[in-house]
Amino acid sequence: MNIVFLASEGVPFAKTGGLADVAGALPRAVAALGHQTSLFLPCYRRVWDAKPDLVGTGLTLQIPVGSQVVEGHVYESRLPGSNVPVYLIDQPSYFDREGLYQHLGKDFGDNCERFVFFQRAVLEAVLALGLRPDVFHCNDWQTGLIPVYLKTLYRRYPELASAGTLLTIHNLAYQGLFWHWDMPITGLDWSLFHHRALEFHGHLSFMKAGLVFADKLSTVSPTYAREIQTPRQGAGLDGLLRERRGDLRGIVNGIDVQAWTPRHEPMLAAPYDLETVEHGKAVNKAWLQNRAGLPVRPDVPLFAQIGRLDPQKGWDLLAETADRFLEHDVQLIVLGTGHPKYHQLLEGLANRYPDKVWAYLGFSDELAHQIEAGADVFLMPSLFEPCGLNQLYSLAHGTVPVVHATGGLVDTVVDLNPETFADGRATGFVFNEPTASSLWATLNRVLSTWTDPPTWRQLVRRGMESDWSWSHSAREYVEIYDEIQQRLH
Ligand code: ADP
Repeated sequence: MNIVFLASEGVPFAKTGGLADVAGALPRAVAALGHQTSLFLPCYRRVWDAKPDLVGTGLTLQIPVGSQVVEGHVYESRLPGSNVPVYLIDQPSYFDREGLYQHLGKDFGDNCERFVFFQRAVLEAVLALGLRPDVFHCNDWQTGLIPVYLKTLYRRYPELASAGTLLTIHNLAYQGLFWHWDMPITGLDWSLFHHRALEFHGHLSFMKAGLVFADKLSTVSPTYAREIQTPRQGAGLDGLLRERRGDLRGIVNGIDVQAWTPRHEPMLAAPYDLETVEHGKAVNKAWLQNRAGLPVRPDVPLFAQIGRLDPQKGWDLLAETADRFLEHDVQLIVLGTGHPKYHQLLEGLANRYPDKVWAYLGFSDELAHQIEAGADVFLMPSLFEPCGLNQLYSLAHGTVPVVHATGGLVDTVVDLNPETFADGRATGFVFNEPTASSLWATLNRVLSTWTDPPTWRQLVRRGMESDWSWSHSAREYVEIYDEIQQRLH
């Protein structure tokens, strides 16, 4: 099959979160199963800063955006270590900006226009490049109009006639909601602006558009697939998702083994694997403590948290627990950027506990790897988590995850208890309620397990032995592509 992926971010070109990791890895994993794949991304300023090998395709596109015609240029690159072509859609007035979606925490006012341009440019580029896709694999709201375009404005192109669509929901909390008067920007007919289609509480919703029009839907874990069908987590779209439950599947993300296993990561103080984990983690931990300016002590448990500074990630639970927790002989390293309120919180903790807490408030991919390798425990108290990648990276690094029982976190981490310890399934700690007391009770369990080295060693080893490579999940995606094709023919 010929699969065209499109996403608003992808490593190594531009990244703000887990979507980029998926977009950079899944097309390669599907290609490894014998399919033709390509990836389309916007050509942000950050892409140029990353200095990849970009080659101009010579294609100049004329894209209708509302009443204007906007020119697009297409550059080509490859996903590292593969032959998968990556096409980057360039228009400096939309993409030559510091952020991808926002400036200082505020969404760009022209996001509707920017992503209408991107999506129509992808369709025009696919036609111009003669790609003839069997499936457009869309990701999140920034690509939610593709299924609508294919069924309306682009229906008349025979080259696209056999193309079906899959929309993967990476996070339903972001829906691409716009002013209803932005409807003309899309070029779509006003007749589509109603409650069975693009309208959502008086707004234009790109996510809803995709949920209604895509042939199949998926999300990034089986538990999140169930959760989004409930009023609590369905963000107002649960009714629609229940209606479409026969077409919705949850597939856990994989991890890019080349990029995220400690045997291969060039930025680590010492590479390690299952055989050498004790020595390897000790070297990386000492390096990290030194980097953080914390006392270099092997005996103290080193906790870490990495993620967007957004309420979703459970920073408020950490804030409520921090003082009680930091009374103990522990260290805490945090890497994140986002909401100013959490910047202040973490700066405050680092100032109050200079021997125990280090906060790096910025984005550093290198440091993310070094923290995964050097920490003993990874905190992920997310209020909700569609899949979560850091707990998977933690497992691969022998860094024991502590997670709230939600979404992909429950699907990937097995709580330590006498039974799961005895049968060797336990890989971490899971707490049930998103409350400070529940987190605190679990942190106590972590601290007492830390003083029991044989149990700790078993958790570390079981985590490292678990296989979260993409190959299994990629097969599940191919099953969906097959189903889409069978339905269309
Ligand atoms: P989400 O997609 O909701 O942000 P995930 O856990 O699925 O959460 O993925 C987050 C990804 O972004 C991980 O690869 C993580 O290492 C990375 N990340 C998040 N914040 C930072 C940061 N400040 N610096 C470096 N990497 C980060």
